[in-house]
Amino acid sequence: MNNSKASCPICGGVILLPADVEVSEIITCSECYNRVVIEKIEEGDVILSEAPEIDEDWGQ
Ligand SMILES: [Zn+2]
Repeated sequence: MNNSKASCPICGGVILLPADVEVSEIITCSECYNRVVIEKIEEGDVILSEAPEIDEDWGQ
C-alpha cells in the first residue's frame, strides 16, 4: 500500500499520511502545525477537516 497524501484544510499544504491511516485519526500538519482529523477515506482520496479543540492532555 502506498502512502496517501491529502491537502491541509487550514493552510492548503500537502500532508503525507501513513499507509494505515484511519478515519477519525488526528494528524498534525507539518506546514502549519495545526491538528487535522481524518474525516473520510475514499479510493485514493483522504478528506481532512480541522480538528475540534479538545481539552485533553493525555500524551504528556
Ligand atoms: Zn496545514
